[in-house]
Amino acid sequence: MADHDHPHDHDHDDDHEGDDEALEREARRLVALSRIRQYGDPVLRMRAREVEGVDDDLRRLIERMTELMHEAKGVGLAATQVGVLSRLFVFVDEGEDRVLVNPVIATRSSDTDRDDEGCLSLRDVLVPVERSNAVTIQGLDAAGERLELTLELPSARVVQHELDHLDGVLIIDRTDEESRRAALATLRPQPVLGAR
Ligand code: ZN
Repeated sequence: MADHDHPHDHDHDDDHEGDDEALEREARRLVALSRIRQYGDPVLRMRAREVEGVDDDLRRLIERMTELMHEAKGVGLAATQVGVLSRLFVFVDEGEDRVLVNPVIATRSSDTDRDDEGCLSLRDVLVPVERSNAVTIQGLDAAGERLELTLELPSARVVQHELDHLDGVLIIDRTDEESRRAALATLRPQPVLGAR
């Protein structure tokens, strides 16, 4: 399983904590997920706008998104996913919290990697997506300073996924037809028994 919004399996070190603590974390994860826009919400299909300037309001948003990403046990979260159509996302790179405002991919490797991806906005979906192995991405940090990062897998995959969110693109748009159909079947609202 790959990196994406979702956690790696080894992030679940539940063996080292009590049952109560594990339950508490799971409850917090579900609350966090309920605060993240889910598939079917039209905002997920919209293009986010350039950020005009990095100010305290934006820093509060970054803080809130970072907290939400961790509570949801994700490794990336785009502003679109919290209903804010501004071009920024947060992610975890080698254990460190990062943010990129107005991100642009400057260069990407022609070598690609195909691996399963999940998304905090498409619960229970895991589909293969082909991504560049390495990218150089530019943007602004939380201080409004220019930032350029050269990232390899897994972070390169994460930022390509999050950048897609800012353009209204989801993993089901980037997978093969068969995986897409299977994912849509999972995402389709289940009929409610007794409903008319
Ligand atoms: Zn996602």
